[in-house]
Amino acid sequence: MKFIAKFEELSKNDVNKAGGKGANLGELYNAGFPVPPGFVVLSDAYFFHLEKNGLKERIREILNQLDVNNVEELEKKAKEIQTLIINAPIDAELKKQIIAYYKELCARTSSECVVVVRSSATAEDLPQASFAGQQATYLGIKSEDEVIESVKKCWASLFTPRAIFYRTENGFDHLKVGLAAVVQLMVPSMRSGVMFTVDPTTGDRETIVIEAVYGMGESLVSGKVTPDTYYVDKRTLKIKQKHVSYQEKLIGYRDKNVGEHLVKDDKRKTQKLPDELIVALADLGRKIEEHYGKPQDIEWAVVGDNIYIVQSRPVTTLNKNVKKEGEIKAAHVLLKGLPASPGIGSGPVKIVLNVEQLSKIKEGDVLVAKMTSPDYVPAMKKVAAIITDEGGLTSHAAIVSRELNVPCVVGTGHATETLKEGMIVTVDGERGVVYEGNVKVAHSTKHFEQASVKLKQYPPTGTKIYVNLAEVDKAEEVAQLPVDGVGLLRAEFMIADIGEHPKKMIEEGREQEFVDKLAANLRVFASAFYPRPVVYRATDFKTNEYRNLKGGDKYEPKENNPMMGFRGAIRYVMDPAAFKLELRAIKKVREEYGLRNLWLMIPFVRTPEELKRIKELLEEEGLKRNHDFKLWMMVEVPSAVLCLEEFCKVGIDGVSIGTNDLTQLTLGIDRDNAMLSHEFDERNPAVLKAIETVVKKAKQCGITVSVCGQAPTLYPEFAEKLVEMGVTSMSVNPDAVERTKLIVASAERKLLLKIYDKLMRE
Ligand code: PEP
Ligand code: MG
Repeated sequence: MKFIAKFEELSKNDVNKAGGKGANLGELYNAGFPVPPGFVVLSDAYFFHLEKNGLKERIREILNQLDVNNVEELEKKAKEIQTLIINAPIDAELKKQIIAYYKELCARTSSECVVVVRSSATAEDLPQASFAGQQATYLGIKSEDEVIESVKKCWASLFTPRAIFYRTENGFDHLKVGLAAVVQLMVPSMRSGVMFTVDPTTGDRETIVIEAVYGMGESLVSGKVTPDTYYVDKRTLKIKQKHVSYQEKLIGYRDKNVGEHLVKDDKRKTQKLPDELIVALADLGRKIEEHYGKPQDIEWAVVGDNIYIVQSRPVTTLNKNVKKEGEIKAAHVLLKGLPASPGIGSGPVKIVLNVEQLSKIKEGDVLVAKMTSPDYVPAMKKVAAIITDEGGLTSHAAIVSRELNVPCVVGTGHATETLKEGMIVTVDGERGVVYEGNVKVAHSTKHFEQASVKLKQYPPTGTKIYVNLAEVDKAEEVAQLPVDGVGLLRAEFMIADIGEHPKKMIEEGREQEFVDKLAANLRVFASAFYPRPVVYRATDFKTNEYRNLKGGDKYEPKENNPMMGFRGAIRYVMDPAAFKLELRAIKKVREEYGLRNLWLMIPFVRTPEELKRIKELLEEEGLKRNHDFKLWMMVEVPSAVLCLEEFCKVGIDGVSIGTNDLTQLTLGIDRDNAMLSHEFDERNPAVLKAIETVVKKAKQCGITVSVCGQAPTLYPEFAEKLVEMGVTSMSVNPDAVERTKLIVASAERKLLLKIYDKLMRE
């Protein structure tokens, strides 16, 4: 059996024997990229080691009946397995082969032979987290014995407590996952880091983002050091922005050892990578992306002026994976103040405490001052944004910045203390928020203006046209449609992307993580559509759907008929914990991010008592209806049609008719039953009558009435009917927006003509 392969023999198609890391290093090496040479001890060698020493059975035995939630036991057993793997003698022939390859590798360098040994997991289709062990890296390896020892340690790293826990929780077979070990000449790097060929925060494909530290990349990967960040235009290779960080310690190879060292005093504050190398690196990144045809996440190292690539893998956090870790980072709010001058500005902070310091202000900086005075005006003209400690909306800074069209937040209280010189911030002058870093905040008017331009191409309608939405990566695109807002923002996609049952997260004390993740997603919608309303419909998973979330089966009862079961409003009443997290996320988006266009809609409400209790929960979480926070209720159950006035009395701002559920329950046809689908029709007279009743009653109560089910998207005549009934708005799928606008406009005119006719005849 072949147990070892040189990079020369590998390509990206060899993931199942060389692991992701090994296969891609082979691919890049053979494509001529500057990859230090090396070889891979293939996963078959690992399996052979287990087999030969009879370890499989013993591992199974040890893991049998292990309670992974018992931390002590988990750690004990993990250690036991790791010791077994490391202590088991390596097959003599295999050892000979590894040493032979190692010697050959050493022969390729004229200097001292130092290698790194890194683990590379093989089952690529399983999520990253299942390979918590794959990060095991052994640096500065200089002898045959050390190489053998490190390979064994890599193998053993498949059985760290975290890796065992993860596989058990997710039902993966511990012994099916393989591990390869990469042995590669070590680059004694003076500078290193990562490079994304797309901006992982914003998803911007035109920007390459480089993070750089002094020394080896380990300190960066482990998060111990804050790297410099450089933004490079992918097309022109122009450096767009640099954010230089302070670095005190580095991991480096000195005096024949890898260890932690202090960065020289005069270098701590300086830019890690000279401009020429930033550009050369970005150029390399662009070529690697081209080679793979996909955005890449690349690890690099620099010695002298030579750049080396030590890993590349596809960026997994974009677009459809946007929701997975990383891409939509929870934007971190540094400061809040008064929104003095609208617009979004981003740049490095320059703190100006007196007029003498004004000379340091350059084009594109963010001016931070206690307050401004007339002497500041020349500097104010140059900056990307202004932040002050003091002042109100009529202060000097506020008035001048509005005049100059520079985004400005005043009255933050302590900007000059909280913000640090040189740090990058984003100022949202419309909402009075200062974010850390270069955060993508849709300019309130950007998408809205686009939408308005399109809007002008259509006859105006008195009935509002909203859009139904669920996918976060569609938000920006859909926000440019000529719509009045989002009439139904379904939560289910966002929750599915978080992936874990909220109650599991609560039980594990991870409430805040849930809130932050949901809020991060909601922020994208609310900011893309700002200032138009986004009506977030609280979760309406059914128990069978909830069960699919990680840990879900523990919390969800098995129901015979989930469609009419423990769903919608009643869930929040019977078990408010998870719902409260949703409320907290809404509050965070509205208050922290200042996106007060985010409203709430409650699905599947059966009784006024439920609604009442829900309003209490809202109050407990500090959410109260007011001029900019509207509470809507969905009308989906016939009880709400028949007794709508009772629901109105509880106090709501509007209703939205869910024709999908309402049709199901009016006709008694399960909406998912394909056999009866020919009878499932929202145009059935009984359903129309129900809708008409709701519209009438809503008007009598003085609340707005919308429709958000599929019906007006599906049937143009249905949209027309809704206009005749007098709905306030209707919400349709993105592809039906423009068509619906025309249908509604024409229906409204017909209605006017009818009234005119009637008047003339009288
Ligand atoms: C509806 O029932 O019409 C509705 C819009 O909600 P969902 O389809 O998500 O149940
Ligand atoms: Mg529904």
